[in-house]
Amino acid sequence: MKFKRLEISGFKSFSERSVLDFRDGITAIVGPNGCGKSNISDAIRWVMGEQRAKDLRGASMADVIFAGTQRRSPAQMAEVKLKLESDSFPYPYSEFHEVEVIRRLTMNGVSEYRINGAASRLKDVRGLFMDSGVGTRAMSIIEQGKIHQIVTSRPEDRRGVIEEAAGINKFKESKKEALAK
Ligand code: ATP
Ligand code: MG
Repeated sequence: MKFKRLEISGFKSFSERSVLDFRDGITAIVGPNGCGKSNISDAIRWVMGEQRAKDLRGASMADVIFAGTQRRSPAQMAEVKLKLESDSFPYPYSEFHEVEVIRRLTMNGVSEYRINGAASRLKDVRGLFMDSGVGTRAMSIIEQGKIHQIVTSRPEDRRGVIEEAAGINKFKESKKEALAK
């Protein structure tokens, strides 16, 4: 699975719509301290379904909405769109070569996900990324301090990291669901 394009509007420091096209090869984002580099990786994690505000460096989820500056008024809504490309999207997206995921959150707390334009659940978004190697819990996103956290984590938590990398979480989730029925 490859990231093709990221569109960020009203999210953290991105008040205006900003578009990043990912070309083949490596993309590096450089800039001075505080210019918004980490906000871009936060946007990617957010659109993939991140639920923990703390992991997005905020106190509550509403903190992702552009808070305004002296010259700009706050945004009414945060929106992140991520366009993905793959030859093997999981069911029910397997017929697609490109899939676009959108997450929105408004100031009055309305939250929504869309996959290829259709209203979707967090579960659908998670399903899309599960075992693809790019989920919010996957090892493709290593934030500042993450290495230290893995090294010093409890053995069962470290096992979770290995299980995600090995691609067996999908089956564990299905088992949990089946047992709950
Ligand atoms: P460093 O090189 O220090 O890691 P960085 O480029 O990763 O810096 P970020 O952490 O992405 O910088 O951006 C920090 C900036 O984003 C701060 O100026 C902060 O005020 C701004 N910011 C974060 N959340 C919001 C928000 N909701 N509204 C407006 N600005 C925000
Ligand atoms: Mg940073």
